[in-house]
Amino acid sequence: SVSAVEESEEENFLRSPICCVMGHVDAGKTKLLDCIRGTNVQKGEAGGITQQIGATYLPAENIQERIKELKAADDKHMKVPGLLLIDTPGHEPFTKLRSRGSGLCDIAVLVVDIMDGLKPQTIESLNLLKSRNTEFIVALNKVDRLNGWKPCPNAPIIKAMKQQSQDVKNEFNMRVVQIVTQFKEQGINTKLNVNENKRMRETYSIVPISAKSGEDIPDLLSLMVYWTQKSMTEKLTYSNEVQCTVLEVKYVEGLGTTIDVILVNGVLRRGDQIVVCGNHGTPIVTRIQSLLTPEPMKELRVKGKYQHHSEIRATQAIKITSPQGFEHAIAGTALYVVGPDDDLEEVKEAAMEDMMKSVLVNNNKNGSSSTAGDGGVCAQASTLSSLEAMLEFLKAQEVNIPVRGIGIGPIQKKDVRKASVMLEKKILAFDVKVTPEAQKLADELGVKIFVGDIIHEVIKAYMQNLKEEKEKELAAVDEEAVFPCVLKILPNCVFNKKDPIIVGVKVLQGIVKVGTPLCIPQRDFVVIGRIESIENNHKRVDMANKGKEVCIKIVGTNPNQQQVMFGRHFNIEDELVSHISIG
Ligand code: GDP
Repeated sequence: SVSAVEESEEENFLRSPICCVMGHVDAGKTKLLDCIRGTNVQKGEAGGITQQIGATYLPAENIQERIKELKAADDKHMKVPGLLLIDTPGHEPFTKLRSRGSGLCDIAVLVVDIMDGLKPQTIESLNLLKSRNTEFIVALNKVDRLNGWKPCPNAPIIKAMKQQSQDVKNEFNMRVVQIVTQFKEQGINTKLNVNENKRMRETYSIVPISAKSGEDIPDLLSLMVYWTQKSMTEKLTYSNEVQCTVLEVKYVEGLGTTIDVILVNGVLRRGDQIVVCGNHGTPIVTRIQSLLTPEPMKELRVKGKYQHHSEIRATQAIKITSPQGFEHAIAGTALYVVGPDDDLEEVKEAAMEDMMKSVLVNNNKNGSSSTAGDGGVCAQASTLSSLEAMLEFLKAQEVNIPVRGIGIGPIQKKDVRKASVMLEKKILAFDVKVTPEAQKLADELGVKIFVGDIIHEVIKAYMQNLKEEKEKELAAVDEEAVFPCVLKILPNCVFNKKDPIIVGVKVLQGIVKVGTPLCIPQRDFVVIGRIESIENNHKRVDMANKGKEVCIKIVGTNPNQQQVMFGRHFNIEDELVSHISIG
């Protein structure tokens, strides 16, 4: 039936890939973006390109028109409806994205200046791309700067290359080899994309371009489109489930505080109930009042004029307004639509959880040496930005306090409960209030809360407490009942004669335990020290029973005391016995 056909078509419907441009400062990112979106616009033939909110949309027809000279274009079918280019060059589209797994960018263009090669920021970008598993194409920019280059505007590189002198060709080849080597040093295989690169996933393509004179921009566009639609079919298959990311929170005269979003999948409608992460620990629940996109490109664009929509389908960049505004919305987080079957409270929780988890993951990822193990404190602050500042402080080398959980806003019972199930039941709170109920619960559950308006003071109080606890712990060990034991020193097993004494012994009586003080009854009960560790067959153990042969390490207990030495103060015949202090 007709509807079945429609459905199957719907299934195979691809959305537009989202692309961002990265690279070292001055590599030509801005120029490239201008070049991609601008050429036709300047000639007064916008060719369907639309300027979006923080992005530019290139429809398939426009791309097809621009790549028609390429041989590859003849026998290929463009399946994606277009390409959405994020307008902000650099790291921002990445680093701003806090929501988990937010692979907002489907593909990146990494711009490298052919005259400069890889620079620190190129490597930074590379690492970011690697850590997010984002595919990318290397745009080797400024080929027009090669000495003696003859400009061939918009020509494919093969064609442009044919026009060049042997000297230019030589310089070009030499520089490409250098840059491929530099990439290899970063663990990345690259290859010049002259004859289609069929092994794209293992070998990244290098497309030589000039953002100034436009050489090979068609190849770059074509690669972006064909490669994404071929290798990311699943990811790019349109889904009705709303996937939407807040790119920016902006105050606009007459509209209030708006959010600019990228709708990756699904449909947004005017009147939809939505949930957005809030900076004060509480999510913003509101309705979409208006869905706005800029007016289509005209020669004279009136700034600040928008088209209103009743609904918009992905992939698009949109400005959203709401009745109460989005004053405390957080850029980089996901926007959730509350559907008819959804429980609002669950959506609210999911939105905040998602954001918090990603803040924590990001924090640990960029962390220094602090491996928390099972330990770690809870950190809580008034706003997301103050929380992030606090996390930075805790991460600092001199401080290095591992963080296990985080929270925003006043400390409530739920925060205490969360901390109570952790190994270290401690909350470090900066610039927040503790509700009386939360404090009461904390006292009951043994959760310690360190509050303050100055991060340093909070940290100081925590450190002080940690020191006190350590001292108490040591004192407790002293008071612990000593297990009686009698040990015989084994022949040829004295590995170290004085502090620390390391000897092999056989347990004649009782149990030998770490921490046990030992003395020599035959020599006036002289205390030789305390057992610091026990090894059985080269494995550390806490104790050993009667009959076992183990190696023990004995450290002196009192630094003021005279050091007891094997061979001088005792010898092989002497039995070592647990020292039970009286009083
Ligand atoms: P960004 O910092 O990466 O955004 O770099 P820009 O796009 O601002 O470019 C830095 C400088 O390089 C500017 O002066 C550009 O005009 C110039 N530039 C960019 N692309 C090219 C190119 O392909 N050829 C030449 N000759 N200059 C370029």
